[in-house]
Amino acid sequence: MLSCKKTYFDVPFAHRQHLHDGHCSYIHGHNWDISVTFVCDETDENGFVVDFGKVKFLKEWIGAHLDHACLFSNDDPLVEKLRAAAPEAWKIYQVEQCSCEGLARHLYNVFNGMVIEKTGGRARVYCVEVSEDKKNSALFCEDSDTRMLP
Ligand SMILES: [Zn+2]
Repeated sequence: MLSCKKTYFDVPFAHRQHLHDGHCSYIHGHNWDISVTFVCDETDENGFVVDFGKVKFLKEWIGAHLDHACLFSNDDPLVEKLRAAAPEAWKIYQVEQCSCEGLARHLYNVFNGMVIEKTGGRARVYCVEVSEDKKNSALFCEDSDTRMLP
């Protein structure tokens, strides 16, 4: 199986782990790296798994939803209170779980649907890796639920 990978570096956004018993429960930011691995059974006419020039919709989606946003988990009890206090101060994006792991799973689902649609089903997303810094990352791959690699 052929694959190729594209990485979006230094995407600034914030999150908080509202159930964490340490400092991760405070809103804080990272410059995230997001790597998307694509696979296909048959390459396109150029021999590409995906044409990197034709996946700009992923960068646009990241820009629209994550860049300078603040991510909250859906069950965070403070989201509405924070939004209501200063609606103009937030670009809020909510996901089921805003950990690295939860975000990798969420982005896999979002991006995979987009790639399948845009390539007419020829290519798909195999993995999404989300890194919050140089040390910490999470990987979600098809056929796995919470697989983590070192
Ligand atoms: Zn963090």
